[in-house]
Amino acid sequence: MDQQDIRKEEISIQPDTLALKDKAKREGLDTVWERLAAQKPQCGFCELGLSCRICVMGPCRIDPFGDGPQLGVCGADADIMVARNLGRMVAAGAAAHSDHGRDLVETLLAVGEGKAPGYQITDVAKLDRLAAEFGVAGDLPTRAKAKELALAMMEEYGIKKGYLTFSQRMPKARQEKWQALGIMPRGIDWEVTEMMHRTHMGVDNDYVNLLLQTLRCALADGWGGSMIATEVSDVLFGTPKPRPSQANIRVLKEDQVNIILHGHSPLVSEMTVQAAQDPAMLARARELGATGINLAGLCCTGNEVLMRKGIPMAGNHLVQELALVTGVVEAMVVDYQCIMPSLGEMASCYHTLFFTTSAKAKFPKATHLPFSPETGEALGKELVSRAVENFARRNRERVFLPDTPAVPQFSGFSVEAILEARGGTAQPLIDAIKSGQIRGAAGVVGCNNPKITQDYGHTTITRELIGRDILV
Ligand code: SF4
Repeated sequence: MDQQDIRKEEISIQPDTLALKDKAKREGLDTVWERLAAQKPQCGFCELGLSCRICVMGPCRIDPFGDGPQLGVCGADADIMVARNLGRMVAAGAAAHSDHGRDLVETLLAVGEGKAPGYQITDVAKLDRLAAEFGVAGDLPTRAKAKELALAMMEEYGIKKGYLTFSQRMPKARQEKWQALGIMPRGIDWEVTEMMHRTHMGVDNDYVNLLLQTLRCALADGWGGSMIATEVSDVLFGTPKPRPSQANIRVLKEDQVNIILHGHSPLVSEMTVQAAQDPAMLARARELGATGINLAGLCCTGNEVLMRKGIPMAGNHLVQELALVTGVVEAMVVDYQCIMPSLGEMASCYHTLFFTTSAKAKFPKATHLPFSPETGEALGKELVSRAVENFARRNRERVFLPDTPAVPQFSGFSVEAILEARGGTAQPLIDAIKSGQIRGAAGVVGCNNPKITQDYGHTTITRELIGRDILV
């Protein structure tokens, strides 16, 4: 697709994104927007969920206008097909979030067993609260308690008697409602597996029943895998507190070694942050002509180190390729989720080293340095060391940082921090909702899609919600 065909105003509301997109164009580099344009027109059947390739009697599709086939080869109609497709999408998302949580639990276990140098129990009070929730003896020493908690959390993933432990945090009336509907989540992996089973050819063909399991699968993520990931991250690395930082591509520094941390997990990024403060690393960076080592985040890994360490944010999903176009990134370190397979190719157009760190997520043209709880600390040091040495390879003639200044921001609003700010109780908020002063609360979650102008949707909906007295 000719790059001329992509209208600038459809790309982004952010000037730094637009400036870097221009540079990519000047250098003849395609990004997510060119690839989207090349895919157009996208398949209308797939967009509506009216195509199916679950079994080899297909692929099948249903004509939404009633002129063509209304049933797949097996007899599945539009409702069944759409419900099955949605269910499988939810299962994939729940599996991804929850498997991330599993990595945190495995690391917690290794900490409890004394096998994870560099990692520690940072929020002991939270460990105590969680241990009590999971029925772990309160009088155990910290490490033994961490081990028992990790083992109890591992049980949440399998076939467990009753419902997920965290579901007990819900009000009783909500629990009863969900039990009556049959959507209270049981084992995390159980719900994902059952979703895949039910959507296999010739299994669940009642679209209401399928959608109820879709809800239960999503709730297994929310009240299971995702909640475990958040809570254990806080135990290991500290519960976030409000702190100032900065955002946009100008958080990258022309005179420093720049390392971008991208993906979803704090396990490698926390060790990289630690290693970047090592005086020996800083001295080596200065020897090579840099004034320091600068870390910046992208996507959810960026958020993990932003809210706990104040590491600035270079951008979100659609900026991942453009960050490399600056020509100042010595290394991009990724774990998993939302990482574009195009990054290796883009990195190879510059001096940037592209490191993958999870055995679950390998990429073309990447250098793979695998994480384990036992070697995470050493891995952080190796990543920083390689990035520092790479500073000497930077091509100054290709460096470009847009002149948009970095934007100040505040992050770290954990539940604990909010309650502490309100005197340890949610009552002021409840009173404000009861009186109608606040008309509700909403979470704006998820990232950008190049089909919609970058950041336009998020900023517009957030402004509209706040304008209607809804807490965001
Ligand atoms: S499950 Fe049915 S609709 Fe899907 S591909 Fe097989 S035959 Fe076609």
